[in-house]
Amino acid sequence: MTDFILRGGTLVFPDKPPEKKDVLVKGGKIDSLLAQGAAAPGVPEQSAAGLHVFPGLIDCHVHFGMGEKITEYSTETANAAQGGFTTVLGYFLNNEAYGDVFRRELEHAVARAHVDFGFHFSTASELHIKELGEYVKEYGVTSFKYFMNFKGEEGRYLGLDGTDDGYFYDLLKESARVGRPIVVCHTENIEIVNRERRKVQSAGGTTLKDWSASKPAITESEPALRAMYLAEELGARVYFPHISSRKALDVIRFWRQRFKDVIVETCPHYLTHTEDSELGGMGKANPPFRTKDDLEAIWEAIFDGTVDLVASDHNARKKVNKDKPLWLASQGFPATASMLPVMLSEGYHKRKLPLQRICQLLATVPAKVFDIAPLKGSLAPGADADFTLVDLDKERVLHAADFASYAEYNLHEGWNFKGWPVRSISRGVTVMDEHKVVGEGGHGKYLWRRIGQPPIPGKTR
Ligand SMILES: [Zn+2]
Repeated sequence: MTDFILRGGTLVFPDKPPEKKDVLVKGGKIDSLLAQGAAAPGVPEQSAAGLHVFPGLIDCHVHFGMGEKITEYSTETANAAQGGFTTVLGYFLNNEAYGDVFRRELEHAVARAHVDFGFHFSTASELHIKELGEYVKEYGVTSFKYFMNFKGEEGRYLGLDGTDDGYFYDLLKESARVGRPIVVCHTENIEIVNRERRKVQSAGGTTLKDWSASKPAITESEPALRAMYLAEELGARVYFPHISSRKALDVIRFWRQRFKDVIVETCPHYLTHTEDSELGGMGKANPPFRTKDDLEAIWEAIFDGTVDLVASDHNARKKVNKDKPLWLASQGFPATASMLPVMLSEGYHKRKLPLQRICQLLATVPAKVFDIAPLKGSLAPGADADFTLVDLDKERVLHAADFASYAEYNLHEGWNFKGWPVRSISRGVTVMDEHKVVGEGGHGKYLWRRIGQPPIPGKTR
């Protein structure tokens, strides 16, 4: 069943223009790439005629635990398959040791996932620094998040210990000692934000522009600068998620001239929405939507390579948590399903972003950064037979109701996108066909990651 030849497609590579080739799949892995029409006696054929074949796409920034706990491993991974993603990497946030959380969540996920998955742990307590090396070795987790904004009282308010720069310093130092897992830094100067927010609120601000004014771009860029300086000093690798502003891109460009171990992510909403949006609470994200100039700056950074990858920051909150006055609405929204249509419609069609670049942003680079290459993110022989089949010319209106997510809305509801995933194949098995989920949950495997080495799919202890 997982032996077949995928015929007639145009393969998309990260390092060269697309080529028309057939792909021979054996045992759920890519065996070889063949000239179109090459003989393959006795091997069943599957058609990719007229379609572009990407390596299975990877959404390396989703949140677990924000929607309906437990069933979200089914709904959100089915939603990912519908969006053309065959791997997702999800964040946990927790103040306790990760042992019990990991076991419990892994069990829920293994039974339900439609696509392969891995976890990032957020670090918030002293214990997490102490156990960092153990998480790498005993749980197959090679990326850890640190919220620069959960300082002191702000962190304690969220039920966390509340950290400070001293904690961050020790975390970076420990990461360097245990083999340099990625430290994902949410950059936000909360001390400035707290004062600005009070001013905006007392002036009666209620719009997304006010939300952005409460978190000016410098509160994203200044901590990025500090994080890179500290990482350089301590020999750590840092990763900036959801970069939203020209200011942040500028400091990163400047610092990269002396410090290379920094990886930059942006999200689809910063490529399509600005602070002038009238979505109110529905469009409340952290960081906020920015100006038109920031939006253009992010596209520029996607073209010039300052942005390394694009991820969704998918958060399956229900509408009831969002459809509220701005200051009361929850932050974040579902975004996996619209990410590829945004990149194809707004990127490839409107801005002439090469498919090769989209392949890097959504597959090759996340695979390398998060230690799931070369099994994932590649069409080379030996890789998992994960494919995202794309119809570049298909036009379709996005409706959240067509997707499996627990969250029943989408920022891009009603957008007519050109360019859609029409089939997702995971380890040789079709998990989405013509926008419909195929097969049961439980197909997806845990990706046990190792720093700088291939992952071990299915290993759980
Ligand atoms: Zn996030």
